[in-house]
Amino acid sequence: MGLDITWAVDWVRRSAQVIAEHRMELIELDRAIGDGDHGENMDRGFQAVLPKLDDLPAGSTPGDVLKLVATTLISTVGGAAGPLYGTAYLRAATAAGPAVSLGPEELADVLAAARDGIVARGKAEPGDKTMVDAWTPAVDAARDAAEAGEDAATVLDAAADAAERGAVATEPLVARKGRASYLGERAVGHRDPGAESSALLLRAAADSAAA
Ligand code: ADP
Ligand code: MG
Ligand code: MG
Repeated sequence: MGLDITWAVDWVRRSAQVIAEHRMELIELDRAIGDGDHGENMDRGFQAVLPKLDDLPAGSTPGDVLKLVATTLISTVGGAAGPLYGTAYLRAATAAGPAVSLGPEELADVLAAARDGIVARGKAEPGDKTMVDAWTPAVDAARDAAEAGEDAATVLDAAADAAERGAVATEPLVARKGRASYLGERAVGHRDPGAESSALLLRAAADSAAA
């Protein structure tokens, strides 16, 4: 059994909640190495998705939910993160396709498509101190868990754990993409805000699967 529309809608609700709860933390992280708006941008985007969930037609799929998130983030978040996350959710929606429920392998595919979208859009490589540093280990961990025969919830839990470690691991890095790259060595010692928000979103996905 895989994860269906109920999971997808719950994931978005949890995402909005966790981003709202961590709004100030994301602002502080972005204040240190960027322009201080990441928490506000993400909170605005996810709050804008919430009312739209109620208008999803009967029979909507996880892919439809991912598409709704994509279009809403693209039109409301702005900055670097808006188009990056927008592309991530759009590619994720395409990977999910018309499936009514997503199993372990499909979830690994969906996460990989999201990461590939971020890379296609932003051209960052692992180690550039961006959200890619959370997504790449998450995708690898999800793939490993799926191949090991783990269930959908365990796949997402592995992805969330890896994303959290990946976000922490951005701290000693010098940034090579985004605003933080203007700071050179001064970015060292600070966690990348986009990697942190990515870890929060993946933890929300795992929590929704475990609920
Ligand atoms: P802005 O920098 O325009 O204010 P945000 O503060 O909302 O946008 O988002 C900043 C985050 O976007 C960074 O912490 C980083 O994770 C991510 N980011 C920026 N540029 C890139 C890129 N080229 N590739 C991947 N992620 C990026
Ligand atoms: Mg910013
Ligand atoms: Mg900005």
